[in-house]
Amino acid sequence: MRRNDFLRMLAMAGAGLAVPGRAQNGSVGEAGEVEINPAFINSGPGFGNKLALTFDDGPTPGITERVLAELKKRDMRATFFLIGAKVDARPDLARRLVDEGHDVANHSYTHPRLSGMSDAAVDNQITRTQEAIARATGVTPVWFRPPYGAFRREQGPLASKHGLGVAYWSVDPKDWSQPGSAVIAQRVLAASQPGSIILLHDLHPQTAEAVPAIFDGLISRSFATAPFHSFVGSPYA
Ligand SMILES: [Zn+2]
Repeated sequence: MRRNDFLRMLAMAGAGLAVPGRAQNGSVGEAGEVEINPAFINSGPGFGNKLALTFDDGPTPGITERVLAELKKRDMRATFFLIGAKVDARPDLARRLVDEGHDVANHSYTHPRLSGMSDAAVDNQITRTQEAIARATGVTPVWFRPPYGAFRREQGPLASKHGLGVAYWSVDPKDWSQPGSAVIAQRVLAASQPGSIILLHDLHPQTAEAVPAIFDGLISRSFATAPFHSFVGSPYA
């Protein structure tokens, strides 16, 4: 499928593109370079009963392995938004994510609140994480998620200049608040629908405890969980 057709289908499916700007809408700036309008998304296409499982804040030794084991048991794929400093601490664990078929993405280097930072400091966070992930896994991410979702619209070019789209989410069980594994699973299953981007954290034991019920519940509802590359694709390709 040609990229334009894919985007048109996304639009028809009512995908949650917060900002419709895409490479096709690029304009030529004063320097003569084509400026790419940053892509922001919070959900994917609603056809095909697909949704995306995303895990933030890893890799976390002792937790990420548990999530990986449950994914592998069910032959499911997810997308992991990684913290650069944690990748540098455990490059082997980051590499394992890719080896087991999952997508890896950028979630900043030290997890600061980027919305209040200078462009240079934000660029440093993004660049160091791109480099850490590429070094550990051989993969250069094409999606970025700002910590806390704290990112100003006008900061978008700081992501797009690295070829990164900005990915938020549509289902948030607030697992970080540790409400109990049963509550986490119930919240995810109650809110999931075709096109959802589910936000989880491979950081807390309760999330690791919740994933078997989440994964089995999604399967029993006939959802196809897809990694980003086969769900929302690349932001500017
Ligand atoms: Zn985070």
